[in-house]
Amino acid sequence: MILEGKPVAEKILAGVRAGVERLRAERGVRPTLAMVLVGDFAPSQVYVRNKKRAAESVGITSRDCLYPQGLNAKQLLDLLASLNADPAVHGILLQLPLPKGLDEDEAIAAIDPTKDVDGLHPANLGRLLAGVPSVVPCTPAGCLEILDHYGAKLEGAEAVIVGRSRLVGKPLAQLLLARHATVTMCHTRTRDLAVHTRRADVLCVAAGRPRMVTGDLVKDGAWVIDVGINRLDNGTLVGDVDFASVRPRAGAITPVPGGVGVMTVAMLMKNTLEAAERQGGRA
Ligand code: NAP
Repeated sequence: MILEGKPVAEKILAGVRAGVERLRAERGVRPTLAMVLVGDFAPSQVYVRNKKRAAESVGITSRDCLYPQGLNAKQLLDLLASLNADPAVHGILLQLPLPKGLDEDEAIAAIDPTKDVDGLHPANLGRLLAGVPSVVPCTPAGCLEILDHYGAKLEGAEAVIVGRSRLVGKPLAQLLLARHATVTMCHTRTRDLAVHTRRADVLCVAAGRPRMVTGDLVKDGAWVIDVGINRLDNGTLVGDVDFASVRPRAGAITPVPGGVGVMTVAMLMKNTLEAAERQGGRA
């Protein structure tokens, strides 16, 4: 089975659109997302443009905070403080990576956790770890939505995650653990990657290495979630999983593009609506 992200994302976005309308009608609240982009990194400009388009499509207002010429650390912290204090802004998207010289940890920690729609503030990650999630990071949340939509059995499953980043691997491990999977996390110091990946019922790969997981590393019938997005020199977009060799073995697999990538933006919209509901009061 091919785990297409599009129908899942459309379902999420339809729910968000309805929620935005409800919030506007019942509370007069217009969910608003501030898009903070510092520097002129081309891929980030594309991501922000896509997020703006998605926001527009569900009725979320976006506020552009674009600084292609850059900002210094104090200017960025002042900007975040002013967005935190602005009651008309419900979510703050800080597009990463920040240009060299700016401290990402410091900037993320400066965002009001209730407006942290990426779910990366230590308070939100801590709540996830504590088992009382508030805002969940978009990409791992999107992976779970795909698994649930297509009916993956997670309870008791051997779930193996390749990659331990704050953005993907670590929060995904918490989400799978909360669903009673037995979770193994692999990284660059893992001694024998294949030993772990070959016993995975659910294999999630977020390593940032094009096509590194090949068919011989996958158990027959496994569900494979490919988080990777890599552009090859010839312009082709590929995942961290070698789709051609893994597909015949896998029970289910996400394509790249068209799998997890489309979910990330949908979950960002969901997080923004929920942030607005929390701040605007819910009936
Ligand atoms: P990252 O911060 O670079 O982390 C990569 C992780 O993979 C690290 O934990 C690293 O281990 C591990 N790793 C790298 N090479 C490995 C290898 N050969 N064997 C085992 N583990 C290895 O990357 P990220 O931000 O999590 O992103 C991962 C991928 O997902 C990238 O392709 C990125 O473009 C993509 N991504 C996609 C979306 C989406 O919307 N679909 C969103 C975010 C990211 P160490 O910790 O030991 O270094």
